[in-house]
Amino acid sequence: MTTGFGQSTVLGYPRIGGNRELKKAVEAYWAGSIDAAALERTAAGLRAEVWQTLRDARLDAIPSNTFSYYDHMLDTAVAVGAVPTRFTRLGLSELDTYFAMARGVDTEPALELTKWFDTNYHYLVPEIGPDTVFAANPAKALAEYAEARDLGVRTRPVLVGPATFLLLAKSPASSGEPFDRLDDLVETYAEILRALADAGVEWVQLDEPGYVADRDPTRITALRDAYTRLCAVERRPKIFVASYFGELGDALPALLDTPVEALGLDLVAGGPGNLTRLAGAGPLRGRTIVAGLVDGRNVWRTDLRTATASGAVVTGLADHVAVSTSCSLLHVPVDLSSETSLDPDLRQRLAFARQKVDEVVLLSRALRDGAARLPEPLPAAPAGWRDTTVRSRLATLTPADRRRGPYPERSAAQRARLDLPPLPTTTIGSFPQTDELRRARADHRAGRLDDAGYRQRMRTEIEHVIRLQERLGLDVLVHGEPERNDMVQYFGEQLAGFAATGHGWVQSYGSRCVRPPIIYADVARRAPMTVEWSRYAQSLTDQPVKGMLTGPVTILAWSFVRTDQPLADTADQVALALRDECQDLERAGIRVIQVDEPALRETLPLRAADQKAYLDWAVGAFRLATSGVADDTQIHTHLCYSEFGEVITAIDALDADVTSIEASRSKMEVLDDLAEIGYGRGVGPGVWDIHSPRVPSHDEVVEALRRAVAAVPAQRLWVNPDCGLKTRGYPEVEASLRHLVAAAAEVRGG
Ligand code: GLN
Ligand code: ZN
Repeated sequence: MTTGFGQSTVLGYPRIGGNRELKKAVEAYWAGSIDAAALERTAAGLRAEVWQTLRDARLDAIPSNTFSYYDHMLDTAVAVGAVPTRFTRLGLSELDTYFAMARGVDTEPALELTKWFDTNYHYLVPEIGPDTVFAANPAKALAEYAEARDLGVRTRPVLVGPATFLLLAKSPASSGEPFDRLDDLVETYAEILRALADAGVEWVQLDEPGYVADRDPTRITALRDAYTRLCAVERRPKIFVASYFGELGDALPALLDTPVEALGLDLVAGGPGNLTRLAGAGPLRGRTIVAGLVDGRNVWRTDLRTATASGAVVTGLADHVAVSTSCSLLHVPVDLSSETSLDPDLRQRLAFARQKVDEVVLLSRALRDGAARLPEPLPAAPAGWRDTTVRSRLATLTPADRRRGPYPERSAAQRARLDLPPLPTTTIGSFPQTDELRRARADHRAGRLDDAGYRQRMRTEIEHVIRLQERLGLDVLVHGEPERNDMVQYFGEQLAGFAATGHGWVQSYGSRCVRPPIIYADVARRAPMTVEWSRYAQSLTDQPVKGMLTGPVTILAWSFVRTDQPLADTADQVALALRDECQDLERAGIRVIQVDEPALRETLPLRAADQKAYLDWAVGAFRLATSGVADDTQIHTHLCYSEFGEVITAIDALDADVTSIEASRSKMEVLDDLAEIGYGRGVGPGVWDIHSPRVPSHDEVVEALRRAVAAVPAQRLWVNPDCGLKTRGYPEVEASLRHLVAAAAEVRGG
């Protein structure tokens, strides 16, 4: 029996265009240099290109409504009428209301932006309260469907499912749980389904990745009830519920308890667990299982033989199996064929979105006709990708390599050497990145500026930043990071084992795209990476200059990582490189070294059962990187957030001498959380929210510091902004830092 789903599909495809056309068009629209009609033409062109690409690849089940001007959660909010009145009352056009929610306007802050599960994509958090009036608005989904149909492509509209939508929403103020509104929202989805059916839509995809995290039984029952209700809608398309990023757990049998016609499972991130659950679910008569066999989140070619074998297991269980990507291809770059200068040994191992579509089609044929027709497996990796020195160092590590001396001794040694006042002032590392700096880096890269000229340019900038900090009276200075394009890319470009792509852009949020490096081989430090700049900065001043590194967890989190060895091993390789860098900085006279780990919490596994193992290796790698220095070298770490949640004990376990965190928006509450777990080392709660151009007043900073001093003894308290200053302008930086230094002096005085 066939359910008419098709044999091969993807859960979504990049929408930014092969050359970031969408970013450029959207930003031009914001800048007023093109009008809405021109923006719409570019968007329609990009959508048409995607559908034609998928059709030409012979994919036989093609999604639509995966395009977005900014974000698919925001699109879903619009589709269910969940536009907060604070935006509707602005009286803007539909498109500008949409962008106002995404970016804010003078008088209204934007919706909150946050991480999409454990990926590097960020979505806008819908605001759903008891008073939110849902209303079906399927216009976008219908328009895309019609647009594709006019091109001769029958598509499957995609929406975020109602349960996940509410799980990811927040309520304005503290008025009720968004999830309490599920029944109402399901009625709105029912209406959307009717409208889609009336337009001739045969299948709809509702994404419920919210259930690959731990959810209590009432939420799982609610999911079952929601889909039971949606399946009872009289006129509706067939329903495909997609899950991704892990194991569905108890939600799998719950969904199979409903009449949904198709269920999608991630067999890459949730492989064994999902298969076991599926096997235990009994006969799957009349249903399609959409097997996510091609990794939608990483850039490696699929091992087609192994994937075919997993696919065959599913074929043995279900009436009908379609092959798919494990999640939307939104998370990988568009097309490997643009990468003409990658090492051929590496290139032949890679697959970007376009190539992954071919893999899906190949796999679906192999499942039907047998694996004999699969291409030959890849040859073994080149011997040069193994670094025996790094491997033997790792093999001989002992626990002592991840341990520093007792904190009281370290702290005494550091106090004697650094001679800082109580409430020492510092910044988080970067100073404003001016257009001129960006141009200098681009010119150097393109060969228009030679090495000597570039070095001179950077030195001038460093000197300027040092003199400014001296003038302002800061205690621990930074060199300002003018040489860094990005805190991970900068290190990726210098470490062996990393490759940079030319066009490997991936959407991070809205029009912002990133180009993550690829870790493909053993990681080793070829030469010192930051020492020259830090040494120069230190040579200009008697104040301590803080060395500045990115930690191993963050480097992994913002790269595409190899999958042929445990993440822990790759993290330790990166950690060894950073350990050597710390020791070189120390030898160059650097007394304070900050190792940033803003990604520590965001990479936390979605299921509690997996979290301990992660935190063990993550903390271990950080400690390996930072434990090679003497007691009197002070190690700082910086985390970009303050809601530590379940990672709070891990933050203590990092054993940094000083931890700086974001705190200005949460009013220092985090200090109580740290006190509760007995954190007893230095802490720098941010007293200036650098995410906004607003200059905090002197009194505001004093007030924040007084609150902090009430929670933490002054000898352990540092005074700093929430994060780096690279996105700010000099006028606001100078004014804010002046207030910060004066406020510290006032509070020191008692
Ligand atoms: N040192 C980095 C900076 O100041 C830290 C950035 C971050 O925390 N994301 O820019
Ligand atoms: Zn930060």
